[in-house]
This record gives sequence, structure tokens and C-alpha cells, in this order.
Amino acid sequence: MRKDYYGSKKKWDARLKLKKAKAGITPVALKQIISDWAGKIGVKVGQIHIRAMKTKWASCSTSGRVTMDAGVMGLDKPLVDYIVVHELLHLRIPNHGKLWKSMMRAYLGEYEERERELGALSRI
Ligand SMILES: [Zn+2]
Repeated sequence: MRKDYYGSKKKWDARLKLKKAKAGITPVALKQIISDWAGKIGVKVGQIHIRAMKTKWASCSTSGRVTMDAGVMGLDKPLVDYIVVHELLHLRIPNHGKLWKSMMRAYLGEYEERERELGALSRI
């Protein structure tokens, strides 16, 4: 998932630094969220890596290795869930077509709402 989805990185970093200082999801908690969603979606996750990513918020290899940008830990839980489900669904559906959208809606409801929220955040 590309960051330009959510506006400029610099603005994000400034905002995420602020958020991390306030809330802060730990790496252990983030890995637990990924495992929980993998169980619900019925996909097998291999290794989980959390590190700074230049242009992406997260990526998922076909072998099930999940990489999350460390900045995700500064987001609110519904936005974290959005990014995790987005990526894990790609283990079954490697595109953003109709099936992927209906699965996103099945797991997250109005997921577009979260996209809008993220988009709005990036404009602050
Ligand atoms: Zn995607």
C-alpha cells in the first residue's frame, strides 16, 4: 500500500511523532493485531517485520511475510486495522477489484470512511 494514498510523508511523520508520544501501539501489540486478523481472514502469516519504509505503509509477500512501516504504530486502532486487513486480504486477492472491496467491507464495514479519515489527517 503506497503512502501517497494518504498524502505527503513529511506531514505524516510530524503528525505520527505527535501521536506516538500520546498513544503508541507497541510492536508486540501490532504483531498481535496482525495475527488476530490473519485468524479471522483465514490466511497464514509468516514473519512480521516492523521497520521504517520509504514509500509504503505496509507490504505483504506471496509467502506471507508482512512488513509494516513503524509509523503505523502511531495511528489509531481503526486505521491500523484498515492497513492490516488491506494487506492480509492481498494474500488471497492481489488487486483492489470488486472481490477485494467486498471483503474489505465484510471485515471493516465502511472502510472508505477510514480512507477519508486518513486522507483528512494528511491535510493537517
Ligand atoms: Zn493494496
